[in-house]
Amino acid sequence: MNYISTRGAGIGERHTFSDILLGGLAKDGGLYLPNQYPRVSADELAHWRSLSYADLAFEVLSKFSDDIPAEELRSLTRKTYTAQIYSNVRHEESAAQITPLKTLGVENGTTLSLLELSNGPTLAFKDMAMQLLGNLFEYTLAKHGETLNILGATSGDTGSAAEYAMRGKTGVRVFMLSPHKKMSAFQTAQMFSLQDPNIFNLAVEGNFDNCQDIVKAVSNDHAFKAAHKIGTVNSINWARVVAQVVYYFKGYFAATKSNDERVSFTVPSGNFGNVCAGHIARMMGLPIEQLVVATNENDVLDEFFRTGIYRVRGASETYHTTSPSMDISKASNFERFVFDLLGRDPARVLQLFHDVEEKGGFDLAASGDFARVKEFGFVSGRSSHADRVDAIRDVFERYDTMIDTHTADGLKVARENLQPGVPMIVLETAQPIKFGETIREALLREPERPAAFIGLEKLPQRFDIVPADASVVKAYIAERT
Ligand SMILES: *Cc1c(COP(=O)(O)O)cnc(C)c1O
Repeated sequence: MNYISTRGAGIGERHTFSDILLGGLAKDGGLYLPNQYPRVSADELAHWRSLSYADLAFEVLSKFSDDIPAEELRSLTRKTYTAQIYSNVRHEESAAQITPLKTLGVENGTTLSLLELSNGPTLAFKDMAMQLLGNLFEYTLAKHGETLNILGATSGDTGSAAEYAMRGKTGVRVFMLSPHKKMSAFQTAQMFSLQDPNIFNLAVEGNFDNCQDIVKAVSNDHAFKAAHKIGTVNSINWARVVAQVVYYFKGYFAATKSNDERVSFTVPSGNFGNVCAGHIARMMGLPIEQLVVATNENDVLDEFFRTGIYRVRGASETYHTTSPSMDISKASNFERFVFDLLGRDPARVLQLFHDVEEKGGFDLAASGDFARVKEFGFVSGRSSHADRVDAIRDVFERYDTMIDTHTADGLKVARENLQPGVPMIVLETAQPIKFGETIREALLREPERPAAFIGLEKLPQRFDIVPADASVVKAYIAERT
């Protein structure tokens, strides 16, 4: 399999899965995609239905990474997707399933269910891909005798998922910036209680934007970046996207009895990473009827799927909401879908994303391409804080199930898109304990806390406070690498 950039650079060059694993953007600023999507035959689909999660992950991933020997890839997926790592299940008996499907009930003539993706170490779906990435990084670095220093900024989910995936891994260090005293007590404790010597928590005296600016400044210093082997694990990482393809297959098998049936998925979306994986599963031949994109008040994606207009938001139009992991001003993986929508024409993608940089967006409404959005199964909707509170309350009362705010965004939009006879699977992206304040508001009670997290906030914390100054952060990294 060869990888190409959505903007056309390097066509005719060879880029393997391992080549692009540790990198970010392609050198022309585009995103990597396979030169064509692998198709899954009816026989394969029949065989995959009975596989464990780890072995299904092996089958899916091996179609995208033919440069990794099969037995080595299989040992990586079996090491990653274990009941022990995905142990934060709500019901003991589902521990071995990794991503249990919880049926809520029948609404509008169809079955509505939740695919639990948040039973991993940090209680958010980002563990599904990040845990594999940790093992892939360790494997690839060891093979080439290299090391990597991951630098990131976080306001919550991404940082902790990266730290729990990379802790104790040979050849990898993590330097994670977070705004000092601005994360919830739970999220702070999750990250800062890690005592592993390869994990460095930097509490920046500033806000999240300051943290991101420092990461940008360090990444733009190419000499420093090369000298200290700085890398990232952000959501455009191809291996993260492809690891997420697996649970669309797993969810489909759990919700159906035969491979003749079709299902729809609703995906709480921010950077379009999760739902991009659903698009890829569908392109591989998984019988998906609709992919429902659910946003919160930051509705860049909902606006596009309703109108054909893609408009990046400025800081004053980017809202802090109670589903904060979807508070984005632009959707960094969206270019991958646009490439497919435009019939894989890199010259046009280059032009459109040039317009994004120059004019803040583009408009496909008048072009024939936008009409094809439906052929790809996409529809969308948005929700508000009041909608989230209603959904959390309703699902708790009706189905005795507690959901988090992001999953609530998904549930609200899913209900607007139910089709009789087509099972609807809502992806559960986090556990309620991570966003306890809104649970208390909606239910007037404490969120459920998995046993492993009892007393978390009382554990000793390990972090260093730094000023919002890139040169101080550089010196900090230089001393430790
Ligand atoms: C990251 C995240 C999302 C958004 O996922 P994308 O891949 O960026 O679309 C949704 N919910 C939760 C809980 C998250 O952590």
